[in-house]
Formats: sequence, C-alpha cells, structure tokens
Amino acid sequence: MGKEALKLIPKVDVLLAQDALQGLEQDYTHDQLREAVRAYLDGLRAAVLDGTVQEVGTPEQVAADVANTLRRRGAYSLRPVINATGVVLHTNLGRAPLGHEVAQHVAQVAEGYSNLEYNLERGERGIRYAHIEKVICEVTGAEAAMVVNNNAGAVFLMLNTLCQGQGVAVSRGEEVEIGGAFRVPEIMVRSGANLIEVGTTNKTHLSDYQRALSEQGASALLKVHTSNFVMVGFTENVSVAELAQIAKPAGALVLYDMGAAPLYPLQIPGLGQQDTIKGLLKDGADVVCFSGDKLAGSAQGGILVGRKDLIDRIKKNQLTRMLRIDKMSLAALEMTMQLYRDPKQAAEKIPVVRMLAMDAEACRAHARALDERIANEVPGIGHQVLDVQDEVGGGSMPGVMLDGAAVAIDVPGLAAAELERRLRDVPKPVITRLYKDRVLVCVRTLQEGDDGLVCEALAEVARGVNTEGIS
Ligand SMILES: *Cc1c(COP(=O)(O)O)cnc(C)c1O
Repeated sequence: MGKEALKLIPKVDVLLAQDALQGLEQDYTHDQLREAVRAYLDGLRAAVLDGTVQEVGTPEQVAADVANTLRRRGAYSLRPVINATGVVLHTNLGRAPLGHEVAQHVAQVAEGYSNLEYNLERGERGIRYAHIEKVICEVTGAEAAMVVNNNAGAVFLMLNTLCQGQGVAVSRGEEVEIGGAFRVPEIMVRSGANLIEVGTTNKTHLSDYQRALSEQGASALLKVHTSNFVMVGFTENVSVAELAQIAKPAGALVLYDMGAAPLYPLQIPGLGQQDTIKGLLKDGADVVCFSGDKLAGSAQGGILVGRKDLIDRIKKNQLTRMLRIDKMSLAALEMTMQLYRDPKQAAEKIPVVRMLAMDAEACRAHARALDERIANEVPGIGHQVLDVQDEVGGGSMPGVMLDGAAVAIDVPGLAAAELERRLRDVPKPVITRLYKDRVLVCVRTLQEGDDGLVCEALAEVARGVNTEGIS
C-alpha cells in the first residue's frame, strides 16, 4: 500500500472519540490526550513515509495503540527511570538518588507548612540557613557554612563577594569547563573578579602563584578541582597546604571550588587517599565550595564552608536571594548531613555512599541473583554475568574505574541497539549500557525493587518481539 496509507491515517478528533481514549479521560486532561494523539500520528506518518509501516489500522486499533503508549509512558514528562548504566552520579539521570528515609522527610516538609524561616522558640522570623549551618560545620569541621541553589552559584557568589574588582590567580591547568556552559574563566569575569592566569596547562609551580601575589597583586588564589578530566604524564600542580603557606603572609585568600567532595573518605575499593573538606580546611583553605548532589549524595545545592568572617560576608550579598535554596533541597541536605555524623548510618542510608562502597564480589553476587531471576521469569532470552568497569560519574572522579558486574542480555531477533531503545520505552524506563554490541544491565546502580522491574521490562520487550514474529 505504501504512501497511499497516509490517506488512511485517522483524524485526531476521530481518534479522541474512540472508547480506548475516552476511557482515559479520568487520568489525563483533554490537552494531554490530544497532544498524545498528535505525537503518535506524527510518528506514524514518518513511519509510513520511510516504509517501516505499510498498513494503518482502523481508528479503533490506532486509538488502542495510542492508549497503550500513554499508559506505558505515564502522564509526566519528568519521571523515574532505572539506572542500569553503572555510572553512580549520572549527570543525565539526576545525579544523586536520595535514600528512602531522606525522600520521605522531604515529602513531609513539602506537603505542609514548615518553619523554613520561622524561629519556633521566639515565635518570630527565623533564618532559612540556620537549619543546616551547625550540622555542616559539625561534619566538615568548618567555622561557618552557607548553602545556595547549586555549586555553580556558590562559586559565583564566593568570587563576587570576596574578589570583586580584585585579582584572582588560577592555574592554566585548572581553567576548566564543567559541561553545559560553566567555564571558570567566564564565570570569573561575570563575578567581577580579575583573572590572573598562572603556570601552564600541564605544570603550575608554587613560584607561579608567588609571582601572582608579589608582582600582579593577586588578592586570592583559587583552586578548581579538575573534575571531568585527568592529566597524565609530565604534570604538576600545587596543593592547598602549599598555597596557604604563601598566601597567608601576603594577606591573600585561598579559595577552592571542589565540585565533588566526599564528606569523609569514602570506602571505594582500590582507591587511595582522597581530599576531604575537613582536611582542606585544616590545610589552610579559607573557603571551600562543593555540590550537594555529587559525592555528598544529597539534593542539588552549593555548599560553602570556611572562615566565619568570610562566610558572613557571603551571607550578606544581595545575590544570595537569587541563588537561594528551596525548602525541599534544604530538608534533604539537613537530613543527609545528619546521617554523616555516623559513618554506619551514612553507608546504609545514602545510596551514593552505599553504591560506591560495593566491591567486585558484592556486585557479582547481585548480578548472579539477577541472572537467576531472569532465567526463571523471562524464558527465551540470552543472559550472562560479566565483570565490568563502573564509573563514579558526575565529573567526580575522572579516570577512576570501579570493578563491578553486569548481566549481558541478548534477545533473539533483536539488534542490541534496538533492545536498548525498547528498554527505554517501558513504564519505568531501563537505561542500560551498550557495550560492544551487547546490552548490559549493570547492577551497582540498581535500587531496591529494580530487579523485578528489569525482569518485567525484559519480558515486555521479549513478548513484543514474539508477536512481531507471528504477525
Ligand atoms: C560540578 C562542578 C561545578 C558545578 O556544580 P553544580 O552543582 O553542577 O552547579 C562547579 N565546579 C566544579 C569543579 C564542579 O565539579
């Protein structure tokens, strides 16, 4: 029939009048249904034109198809997915998942009124940041702390408050772009600080910073964590402790945009010494900032810690109002910080901490269990346990590979890329890793209940292939 079939595609209103779509009117608004029909028809038209669809069904059949698609995809654009990529802080998948207890606490705070800016003892206006400052200081050893919307905002606020109109030395090896449109040199210009570039791309010596202080009048030395790349070979950079030794006598500040920071040395098998906030402050950093939803494993936020006089100035900056953190993130951050008081609690209740701590054997055990479940619940597909290399992600620990495990899946009659795509088109999409023409379900990042849903998704995809075969 070919392109003739275009003429047979039913009209939107005809489809909306079919029982299958009428039956969804309780769950979806009229606009949602109309939009779903339009999107479906666009896809159908394209498929007819490129020849992948030869025949168009009756209005009844098409409406049933639209209804099924809607049911599969749910009502919302933003919705939960299963992370089977093995990348713990997956930037595209919302970075850090919150633990169940933390999420429940957030829901409680959000559902009703709260004392967000109310002092319950005095019965008068309170301060939003007061809920969290003490506990952050406790777990980081800082004198003072402040939280804003995200770490990009924290960097900007720090520079704008402390360095406006003044020279700030940054190593050429640390003039990084974080992704999106966050480039350190540009952020500095926007903040009003004057960038003084020191050193070279691969090597910056203490003497380079020294010259910036004595000859170019730098008032601060800024270190930026090179979060999303590693330099190997002939390289050198200067530690916070060394910077502090030359900055203090010159009356200059040592600032550090750490990006991803663990609150305590994370138990990551095979990984050596890590910088912690506590250590950096001890070494002489004046202000350190980091993300709430990277290694800290909480909600989006930009956390600033350091000297009280400096944090006080940051708090007074008018821009804090534009960068202010909302109550839901604040609730998540407060509870996460409290969990860090006890490393055992943190390891149990902060998913990021738990996932990073999984060693190869723990991953293999999970992969074997999933493999067995697939064997029982989804007959007729290929599956095999494999060792894989997982990643921390989120531009947090570039080059660090975590020994993990996966179940490699093979559905007869389906190319790996198509299997990967279909697993994204189920009620709770499963985002897998495509590796050497195989679909890998990496277990490190699976959460409670995900194993069953992965099996359901595989069964649905396999059923689809079988019915295709019959028709
Ligand atoms: C991630 C990162 C940022 C930006 O943090 P957001 O929380 O995404 O705003 C800034 N600096 C460094 C070094 C980073 O790694």
